[in-house]
Amino acid sequence: MLQRLSAHPDAIPRARRLIKRLAGSATSLMGTRGCMFTFHRAAPSAIWDRLPNRNFYLDLGFLDRLLSHLNQSGWKIVTIDEMQRQLADGGDRGRYVNFSVDDCYRDTYEDVVPLFRRHGVPVTLFVTTGIPDGTLSLWCAGLEDALLQRDRVWHGDEAIILSSPDSRRETYTRLAREWDGPDAARHYTEFCLRNDIDEHAMHWKHAISWDMLHELRRDALVEIGAHTIMHARISTCTPQAATVELAGSRERLRERLGVVPKHFAFPYGRSGDCGERDFDLARQAGFLSAATTRKGIVRKEQDAFSLPRNTLNGAHRSLAMAELHLLGITGAAARILGRV
Ligand SMILES: [Zn+2]
Repeated sequence: MLQRLSAHPDAIPRARRLIKRLAGSATSLMGTRGCMFTFHRAAPSAIWDRLPNRNFYLDLGFLDRLLSHLNQSGWKIVTIDEMQRQLADGGDRGRYVNFSVDDCYRDTYEDVVPLFRRHGVPVTLFVTTGIPDGTLSLWCAGLEDALLQRDRVWHGDEAIILSSPDSRRETYTRLAREWDGPDAARHYTEFCLRNDIDEHAMHWKHAISWDMLHELRRDALVEIGAHTIMHARISTCTPQAATVELAGSRERLRERLGVVPKHFAFPYGRSGDCGERDFDLARQAGFLSAATTRKGIVRKEQDAFSLPRNTLNGAHRSLAMAELHLLGITGAAARILGRV
């Protein structure tokens, strides 16, 4: 084969060109890059399996393994500030990973930050200020809690018997689908009244409080970012309403915590939820970056106002899946399939 190739007059220049192309690809793969992960809630492995909305939670045991794996395999876990600094410098072929928690619930304070602290690595908290202010209905959390704790719930005149984790999951899916939309909070209030649930007490069972956030913001491993006031889908807001959500959440965090958040994450975050107009509005609101939930990896040339992030949901419990995100394969596949 080699003899035949070398016998061809073009063989050597062609081989040289091929080697040069492969070397170019390898260099670009090795260049400084970042991978951003995001998730919402986390639960201990023993409880995770029974949760009616379990895909909304990361298994803490898996997160623990993932952090150890990254620490051992040459990825540096950093804040968004640090990632941006390293990407701007760009010369050291480093690999950086950021974790952000969106919304922020009580378990962010009780379980998630303590786990990152044990690993000695930072975490970014994108706070929806309506949660600690008590103005945003936590209907998903309240519905799930009721289904988990009870053997029967009333849905209007219908008695729903909850006899197994499967029946609780099915009921959660059914009611959440039925309520989702602008009237979700009203449906939930009716459900609470019908089932004798103290909605206020339920809120504070799941919400993060300003006191908790105050303690967290003093932790050098915690970076505080903004995630709107009422978890609005920014693309559906008028420019004025979007600005209230963007700049208002930034101002509220400054007022309550004395920190001015530099970074913002779009609620929902897929391409239909935030676009060019919204990236501009985030810039105008004074942020230095804005994150989406479009999959992919971050390189030096990445626009800071449409940062890709890879969502880790409860079904993601394998290091192999995380590796696909780290290599940028899930991002490339999503782009090919048009799922962005
Ligand atoms: Zn969110």
